[in-house]
Amino acid sequence: MPIPAGLSGQLAGLLGPRGWVAAPDAAPWQRDWLDRYGEPPLGVARPASTAEVAAVMRLCHAAGVAAVPQGGNTGLCGGAVLDRPGGVILSLSRMAAIGVPDPASGAIEVEAGAVLATLHQALDGTGLMFPLHLGAEGSARIGGLIGTNAGGSHAFRYGMMGDLVLGLEVVLPDGTVWDGLRAVQKDNAGYQLRRVFVGSEGSLGIVTRAVLRLFPAPRQRASALLALPDLAAAVAFGTRLRAEAGEFLTGLEFFSDLGLDLALKHVSSVGYPLSIRGGAYVLVEVASGSDLVPLDDILGGVLEWGMEAGLVLDGALAASEAQRAAFWRLREEQPEGQRLEGPQLKHDIAVPPGRIAEFVTSAAALCEALLPGVRINPFGHLGDGNIHYNLSPPQGAADFAGTEARLALRLARLATDMGGSFAAEHGLGRSKVALADALRPPTERALMAALKRAFDPRGRLNPGVVVGQPESCP
Ligand SMILES: Cc1cc2nc3c(=O)[nH]c(=O)nc-3n(C[C@H](O)[C@H](O)[C@H](O)COP(=O)(O)OP(=O)(O)OC[C@H]3O[C@@H](n4cnc5c(N)ncnc54)[C@H](O)[C@@H]3O)c2cc1C
Repeated sequence: MPIPAGLSGQLAGLLGPRGWVAAPDAAPWQRDWLDRYGEPPLGVARPASTAEVAAVMRLCHAAGVAAVPQGGNTGLCGGAVLDRPGGVILSLSRMAAIGVPDPASGAIEVEAGAVLATLHQALDGTGLMFPLHLGAEGSARIGGLIGTNAGGSHAFRYGMMGDLVLGLEVVLPDGTVWDGLRAVQKDNAGYQLRRVFVGSEGSLGIVTRAVLRLFPAPRQRASALLALPDLAAAVAFGTRLRAEAGEFLTGLEFFSDLGLDLALKHVSSVGYPLSIRGGAYVLVEVASGSDLVPLDDILGGVLEWGMEAGLVLDGALAASEAQRAAFWRLREEQPEGQRLEGPQLKHDIAVPPGRIAEFVTSAAALCEALLPGVRINPFGHLGDGNIHYNLSPPQGAADFAGTEARLALRLARLATDMGGSFAAEHGLGRSKVALADALRPPTERALMAALKRAFDPRGRLNPGVVVGQPESCP
């Protein structure tokens, strides 16, 4: 086939009809999940191998054209799409192979385009599991999860995505391939390069393959849904639960009464199984790889203590796998309930877990002062202090009356003043770079900009993400 002139033609020649989708057919890849970002690309490259990824990067590099890696495009900060027209979106979706699990080493090799839920399914029945779980697991891909250092609902027990990566293969902005596909936990041979790529949101290199850690699949689980008077009670209950359940505690999630209302109003597949409503709700899960651990007794005992102490108003232990799934659906549909309610502001906060209730109380006063009546829907991960502090406009109002930036800055300051973070598990992407520039200490900002220059001197790999446009770098 003759190769037409120009980058689009070169990529078409390199990748063939399945591997190159030229504009205007590239529209399905153009916008981010929340439909806030995304300019028309030159086209979408869909390579089928590391060699093809490297060849795409060499061509983009030579042409000085921006390239943006995209996984499942479920990221919430706009990092997987273009901020200017004419660049190339590099989708890893055709590189989705999942290797054979190695039970002796507790590891598996996967390609970056593998979908997280597909990995879970592939491990079913092997006695092993990959412990990362999140609401978008049916679409999010391994490369994107590494790119954002995703957290999810089991992070406090098993760690974030970066803690689960043993080795990486990465294509650098000029097309060079770094083979760091080691399969060991202990590897101190110099700077921790794999750690540098984790959470770099596709701004330093393109992950093509990874070796991931696996854990023994639990043989038994016990789950409970609880209604509590408020978040302070949830924190106190969580503290006791950690002490009693120790290593068996694998899930400790929370959501608000407004969040429950919105989920029940908009998501037909959820139901509320308790007879009493509360000010806060907690989902607890304990699990063990042994049949001998009395999980029901441990959970039941703490529940009884919580009720006697007045911390728990009502609660139910899941009596079946279907009921357990229904409890989790109620928690996981919290973002969807709020999305379907209309405009929203998302803030991905982390504070020390013991200070969650304090943050939520102070933040509510701050929000009320800026926008009286704003509807506050905090939910998230009680176990690690990660609060999705999401807002809906006051009842009857169409928007946030221009308070968005001030709300974001003040909430971020409150979190950092409490020893926390304004970008807990979703990253910075495009949406939080200005916020980060306002809050990052100058030394931190300069180090990150220097790192970006070292890996991507021309600033053509996902420009504008994490450290802003190269011209704005110090
Ligand atoms: C309903 C819902 C629930 C969610 N729940 C959680 C949650 O509990 N915890 C959590 O952490 N996140 C959550 N998220 C956010 C999102 O799912 C995660 O950020 C996820 O890691 C993104 O994966 P992805 O494949 O969709 O990545 P994308 O959105 O495609 O990309 C995300 C970033 O990674 C980069 N990237 C993509 N592929 C690669 C690659 N191969 N190499 C290098 N960089 C790459 C992109 O350029 C971009 O900057 C949720 C999202 C939704 C919609």
